[in-house]
Amino acid sequence: MSTLDRQPAGVAQVGVGTRAVPPGMDATEWSLRLDLAACYQVFDFLGWHESIFNHISLRVPGAQHHYLVNPFGLNYAEVTASNLIKVDLAGVNVDASPWRGNPAAFAIHGAIHSARDDAQCVIHTHTTAAMAVACKRAGLRHDDFYGALLHGDVGYHDFEGITVRTDERDRLVASLGRHNVLVLRNHGVLVTGTSLPHAFFRYWTLQRACEVQAASLAMEGPDVILDEAVRRQSGRDASAFDPAGSLPRVVFDAVVRRMDLVRSRQTVDWRS
Ligand SMILES: [Zn+2]
Repeated sequence: MSTLDRQPAGVAQVGVGTRAVPPGMDATEWSLRLDLAACYQVFDFLGWHESIFNHISLRVPGAQHHYLVNPFGLNYAEVTASNLIKVDLAGVNVDASPWRGNPAAFAIHGAIHSARDDAQCVIHTHTTAAMAVACKRAGLRHDDFYGALLHGDVGYHDFEGITVRTDERDRLVASLGRHNVLVLRNHGVLVTGTSLPHAFFRYWTLQRACEVQAASLAMEGPDVILDEAVRRQSGRDASAFDPAGSLPRVVFDAVVRRMDLVRSRQTVDWRS
């Protein structure tokens, strides 16, 4: 596990939500719901959504390994703290909800939440840059700033079709191993984190690395290839950069604030 996953020590968590806890709702779960809903909104804001597909899941406290995930059929911009569904590891709704999840989400996310206690949050996407990298035999390169930061933390999983068959679960978990990034060949990417901000920050780094790699490979002329020792050092530097583990929360809250600010200026009623 990367030390990027260290939890803040003595740092007050700012959090993204101020809405009062609904009656009957556990306060911790509500806080997690606000974070996860904010994350879906941010993915929409940053253009990382995939219509109603792909998933970001977040475990809730408890021995049952229940987790929150998006209702299948909603755009990311429509996901709220209240309409997130809570499911067990088989993907069965735990609470009453008119919504169900995407079966493909359960195969991937249920498997990882079940196998990795440190994987509190799992993010899976099909962004163009991520899929382009996933289609390359060499996978993610570690020759740019962001790619180098992820050195030593990337696993690979061969494509077997849509991830709806339960027998693929064990192979997915084995492919991930102790890494926090998994390139699903010909398919997309997946990251894990010990909290939602940690997974978000790791995903942000990965997304930027994939975008830079795609742009670099499209340009004429040879790339500057980093020495393996420099790549390794970059991975270690990333782990040591934030010993308190507070940076992911700072980054995530800042992105949420920027999203709120930009959206507050959008006053066009497109149906008018
Ligand atoms: Zn997928």
